[in-house]
Amino acid sequence: MPSYVDPSKCDGCKGGDKTACMYICPNDLMVLNKDEMKAYNQEPDACWECYSCVKICPQGAIAVRGYDDFVPMGGVVHPMRSSDSIMWTVKFRNGNMKRFKFPIRTTAEGAANAYTDVKGDNLDDEKLVLEQDLPAPTMLAK
Ligand code: SF4
Ligand code: SF4
Repeated sequence: MPSYVDPSKCDGCKGGDKTACMYICPNDLMVLNKDEMKAYNQEPDACWECYSCVKICPQGAIAVRGYDDFVPMGGVVHPMRSSDSIMWTVKFRNGNMKRFKFPIRTTAEGAANAYTDVKGDNLDDEKLVLEQDLPAPTMLAK
């Protein structure tokens, strides 16, 4: 389900050629209606639901409607970032609201190192780096 802009909250990032949501969207979906100074998702079907625009919007004007494996259909999901956590607000169709707060990371900043145990050093090897110790795949005869 795509992102959408609440026009009552959007201030068009107070002018300028490129708003925060236009800058951050990896799919160039956000555009600004300069007459109204309101942004909108110009192609909801192409939205990746990456939440980048939602998180960067300084007015908290963008939300995403979640899939029903996440919230019941019609629920509106909005994450609010702080320095160490994200507060997720879910508004249900019946007006109920729930909030969940999760830490942004579980390791100290700068402490995560995904490559500590990596043994592979051959970039031309067709195997993934974590498959280096596995035997080479063999083709099965038909
Ligand atoms: Fe509006 Fe938010 Fe986009 Fe700025 S980032 S134009 S306030 S929706
Ligand atoms: Fe673009 Fe991601 Fe926002 Fe969709 S959720 S409009 S893909 S930034």
